[in-house]
Amino acid sequence: MAVRDLVVVFGDQLDLTSPAIAALDPARDAVLMMEVADEATRVRQHKLRLVLFFAAMRHFRDALRERGVTVHYAALDERDTRERFRDEIPRWIRALRPARLVAVQPGDHRVLQTLRAAARAEALDLDVLDDPHFLCSADAFRAHAQGRKTLTMEHFYRHMRRSTGILMDGDGPVTGRWNYDEDNRERFGAGGPGRIKAPRAFRPDALTREVMDLVAARFPGHPGDVDGFDYPVTREQARAALRDFVEHRLPDFGRYQDAMASGHPYLYHSRLSSALNLHLLDPRDAIDAAVAAWREGHAPIAAVEGFVRQILGWREFVRGVYWLHMPDYAELNALDAHGEVPAALWGGDTDMACIRDSVRGLVDTAYAHHIQRLMVLGLWCQLLGVHPYRVHEWHLAMYADAVDWVSLPNVLGMSQHADGGIVGSKPYVASGNYVNRMSDYCAGCRYDPKAATGDAACPITTLYWDFLSRHRNRLRGNRRMGFQLKNLDRKPDAERRAIRERAKALRREHAGERSVQ
Ligand code: FAD
Ligand code: SF4
Repeated sequence: MAVRDLVVVFGDQLDLTSPAIAALDPARDAVLMMEVADEATRVRQHKLRLVLFFAAMRHFRDALRERGVTVHYAALDERDTRERFRDEIPRWIRALRPARLVAVQPGDHRVLQTLRAAARAEALDLDVLDDPHFLCSADAFRAHAQGRKTLTMEHFYRHMRRSTGILMDGDGPVTGRWNYDEDNRERFGAGGPGRIKAPRAFRPDALTREVMDLVAARFPGHPGDVDGFDYPVTREQARAALRDFVEHRLPDFGRYQDAMASGHPYLYHSRLSSALNLHLLDPRDAIDAAVAAWREGHAPIAAVEGFVRQILGWREFVRGVYWLHMPDYAELNALDAHGEVPAALWGGDTDMACIRDSVRGLVDTAYAHHIQRLMVLGLWCQLLGVHPYRVHEWHLAMYADAVDWVSLPNVLGMSQHADGGIVGSKPYVASGNYVNRMSDYCAGCRYDPKAATGDAACPITTLYWDFLSRHRNRLRGNRRMGFQLKNLDRKPDAERRAIRERAKALRREHAGERSVQ
């Protein structure tokens, strides 16, 4: 019998409650899911990331089939499966001759265009549905942005608190305070973080093990190793991961949000981002669980508000920015940076302890926490002058949770300041002193975080001062950079010359190569 609606479900749309799935009539409609090689190789993706996506997709396929839904599943290891969506989607349209193509808005602008092109080429109606997984639709964000000269996360976040009623008492915040950032900047003392319960590990079942074998065999040269895969790949596991976080790490999540420690990839972070971004976990459930923990006296408000801010604020904000500014956003390069990602970020050797530890964690787990992403790895790329889109591609390759809508504004905007101030009002740049204050990395490093020149000078510190010099004119008008630029101006000419020379040598030494990918 001919198919009425062919519902296309991408790997980051594994939501049984999505409107596309909810409206399915199993008697007349069918689902199409595809594992295409090009998505895995356009940037050489981390093996754990590939296992995560394919294993979660296959579990989702089986969950749909158990509900009586017909799922056409193009597996990577099937002979007929094409390399790219743009060839695979038309193949199925021709084979099934549906009356209509339906999809929830994809998480990648490029994929949306591919879907549209395929429907056009086959003269087929395409229905792209808003994605209610998010608490703010792209249109609602556009309305919020309209008429504002600049977008501020804090304004947006308060708007979201008001419109959802989360942590609200009437029109005001439930405790009288909107923001607990001030309370959330502790670092670990001399004894380090001590024992922190790691995120719950999920032992791979037979289906996941099948995918691990496939990935190991098909992508041997990709970063990382499939062994040790322990991410949640089903909705039930994602919920168990949330419960585990709320019970064991949420109470201290806020205090140590900005802290780093050698050999501790997760600290008090949730590691829920991949489950959220694949839509295995509903953000409302994560928020509700955190708020309930506060009401029950299990977690303090500073931790809970901090967590809610990340999900209701930052996560929704960056998605809004993405759809407001794409496709032009991907081209932005406000600081005119053209370098390549240094080899050390792909797992190469380095004697910089902060980079070594963060990359080791990333290679082992396909994860780094926010401050490592922003104030170590992203900072290093920005100071070296790596092209922002290359940094984004590296993110898409290395992180289990990277999807275009969330990686692009975080990388181009927050971390590389390539959008000139849409996401953040100033570049996040700091010297090695910041890393030293917030971590134990420098104590075990051959460099001196305070020194900008000389053999022992910390590369981050040298390049920090050089960054301020190189971009001085561009940043002069930014009030929030005033203090940093004033400190630069205090440096004697001879020191500034020495910094410039050492910075040039560092950039040569750490120049990345496109071929590393
Ligand atoms: P937690 O620290 O436990 O935070 C809880 C949740 O809040 C996260 O799971 C995430 O869903 C949300 N969140 C927090 N900050 C952000 C943010 N800035 N943007 C969006 N959501 C946020 N996050 C991704 O999900 N995918 C990415 O590809 C990604 N790339 C990033 C790149 C850079 C350079 C930076 C600075 C940040 C990036 N982030 C990204 C945001 C953030 O670092 C990760 O969401 C977080 O580290 C994931 O770990 P977690 O689940 O333990 O988060
Ligand atoms: Fe990193 Fe510099 Fe500290 Fe070494 S001294 S760990 S390079 S910040």
